[in-house]
Amino acid sequence: MKITWLGHAGIMIEDEGKTILIDPWLNGNPVAPIKVEDIKKADAVFVTHDHGDHGYAEAVVICKNTGATFVSIFELANKAQSEGVKNVLGGNIGGTAEVAGMKFVFTVALHSSTIGHPLGFIIMLPNMTIYHAGDTGIFTDMKLLGDLYDIDLAFLPIGSLFTMGPKEAAKALQLLGVQKVVPIHYKTFPVLVQDPKEFIEIAGPMIDVYVLEPGVSKEIGR
Ligand code: ZN
Repeated sequence: MKITWLGHAGIMIEDEGKTILIDPWLNGNPVAPIKVEDIKKADAVFVTHDHGDHGYAEAVVICKNTGATFVSIFELANKAQSEGVKNVLGGNIGGTAEVAGMKFVFTVALHSSTIGHPLGFIIMLPNMTIYHAGDTGIFTDMKLLGDLYDIDLAFLPIGSLFTMGPKEAAKALQLLGVQKVVPIHYKTFPVLVQDPKEFIEIAGPMIDVYVLEPGVSKEIGR
């Protein structure tokens, strides 16, 4: 499984011929390594919520350009459809659905939004189950998610102010029972945590923390 950090909460995953994107905020993102026009192939684009730094507008364009399915909370998926996206998959918290041959779960995120409720996603890739937490504070039901879905790799925000910080994200790993993590939602703006060092220290030596650079791909396996 090849993972590319698009900066902030944006992730591109290429696995077994499928390309999926999560929160592809590219226009106006100071650290985005690519532009919307650079994305020629995508099978599904997941959007956790409608804040501008999570790429709703870009997702609409990418889905129109590639035919990818737009995946989000029901109300936001309806909006994408009304703006001309052909393939949309709207759901709600707790539901399971399938896109591009992959099962996934809509999970809750403790955050705010204008349209619909903010989400995270648990996606069952062919060889790995991943969790993208979206923008969220820590919540004890993360333990339930870990118990139910046997997550291999988590993408967790560590930037604080708008989401969990390093201390909370390290505790979230314990609740989820996850040993592999990619920290996200930091370093983009001066107000966010700039360095994953504190997170790595609190998480401890048993945790594999993959510190990615925007645009540099990494192979991560189970
Ligand atoms: Zn947000």
